[in-house]
Amino acid sequence: MLAAELRLHDVRVLVVEKQTEPASAVRIVGLHIRSLELMAMRGLLERILPHGRKRPAGAYFAAIAKPAPPGLDSRYAYLLGIPQPVIERLLEEHAIEQGTQVRRGCAVTGFEQDDEGVTVELADGERLRSRYLVGCDGARSTVRKLLGVGFPGEPARTESLMGEMEVGVPPEEVAVTVAAIRETHQRFWLRPAGVGVYSVLVPAAGVSDRAEPPTLEDFKQQLHAVAGTDFGVHSPRWLSRFGDATRLADSYRVGRVLLAGDAAHIHPPIGGQGLNLGVQDAFNLGWKLAAQIHGWAPETLLDTYQTERRPVAEAVLDNTRAQTELLSTEPGAQAVRRLLTELMDFDEVNLHLLEKITAIGIRYDFGAGPDLLGRRLRDIDVKQGHLYDLLHRGRGLLLDRTERLTVDGWSDRVDHLADSTAALDAPSVLLRPDGHVAWIGDDQQGLDDHLSRWFGKPAH
Ligand SMILES: Cc1cc2nc3c(=O)[nH]c(=O)nc-3n(C[C@H](O)[C@H](O)[C@H](O)COP(=O)(O)OP(=O)(O)OC[C@H]3O[C@@H](n4cnc5c(N)ncnc54)[C@H](O)[C@@H]3O)c2cc1C
Repeated sequence: MLAAELRLHDVRVLVVEKQTEPASAVRIVGLHIRSLELMAMRGLLERILPHGRKRPAGAYFAAIAKPAPPGLDSRYAYLLGIPQPVIERLLEEHAIEQGTQVRRGCAVTGFEQDDEGVTVELADGERLRSRYLVGCDGARSTVRKLLGVGFPGEPARTESLMGEMEVGVPPEEVAVTVAAIRETHQRFWLRPAGVGVYSVLVPAAGVSDRAEPPTLEDFKQQLHAVAGTDFGVHSPRWLSRFGDATRLADSYRVGRVLLAGDAAHIHPPIGGQGLNLGVQDAFNLGWKLAAQIHGWAPETLLDTYQTERRPVAEAVLDNTRAQTELLSTEPGAQAVRRLLTELMDFDEVNLHLLEKITAIGIRYDFGAGPDLLGRRLRDIDVKQGHLYDLLHRGRGLLLDRTERLTVDGWSDRVDHLADSTAALDAPSVLLRPDGHVAWIGDDQQGLDDHLSRWFGKPAH
């Protein structure tokens, strides 16, 4: 995602990936509303939709079964279930079409930075030179560790094994045993995942914090421990493990090196937010880093990546902590869960929680102003169709209902749509390339000040 965003601004990008092949674990992830909106903003949604399954937007907070309240404020008010390898492939194809170079089978093992750039060392000793380096290298991020950035939080308390395999007993027998275990175990399932293949989730024997995948023998042992039978599992398609550690990087940037995605934050998968959070980090960072590289970024622009995105991750970590408590089978936690379930009958409570999970409730702190300032603008109707269709190039946009403002001086970075009919409850708004509202008003001076604040000095 980050590579594609940078390519929109003609920045040369090399993605260095340690694995020779794409990951095989076919974990289904959910793309939540804000991520779907971002895809729409770059014209990617049409490409992604046929590979996913639309599901209702609600019922994702601690898996409490409440449908979304009426009037959800988005054209994309659903969840898209899609296998993670598929969304990764689609984003990789998109980035490559945009001109990104991808080199597989290359692990970053070291780097040094100076005033002009970063020298990156690969496992085979090759050295690469770039102006910036972004560690999008996951929870065990080499880049973060080499930077010496702290990753405080809570270690994993539990670990789960997850995989796909065949079973050696008839489906009816599986169904009866599984139904009995599901009564008491939250972290267990064994369910059909295609012809003859079952998806398996089972608690691991302990917490290992190991990177390598578990073995079929590990699954057999744990199935025995939980179900009293291993269901005759065999012929695994893929096997993986994950823990529930919660951690946040102390800093997202040290000089010319930045962190994004799981390299910067990890949390339990409850609510399905990790990949969404990383994609949204990339969307926030891409245009800022491009501006920095092209030399038009205002001095503090790149640092707003951390000041905006780290609090968002902090909030996600907190909501996963809360959700994890609500999944506990302890009587106290169950009582709180029942209470919250009742409270979610109030649409405002339900909406508040849904806005957290789907990331449409985010408001960056751009200073005092109307409530819309700092929020994302939904995909409203404009005279040419849908607003998001005008954001495909990743530029700023002045949506001008007064039809008398101008972006002269910034027209190489910012588009101007004069449209008195736009379905907007404000005279004019300035949108950043990530779709957040950077200014609301009707006076040219105020607009110019904010164009300078976000898009640097005018060209003339
Ligand atoms: C069971 C489960 C279910 C989940 N469900 C959801 C969901 O529904 N929705 C959601 O949003 N999220 C979900 N997640 C979270 C999601 O999978 C992660 O947040 C996401 O994969 C993070 O993406 P990333 O690119 O930051 O890191 P990763 O996916 O970890 O990618 C990092 C990449 O960097 C490479 N790399 C590592 N070190 C180096 C190095 N030194 N040099 C070069 N390359 C390197 C790795 O090979 C890897 O390809 C789930 C997670 C789990 C475990």
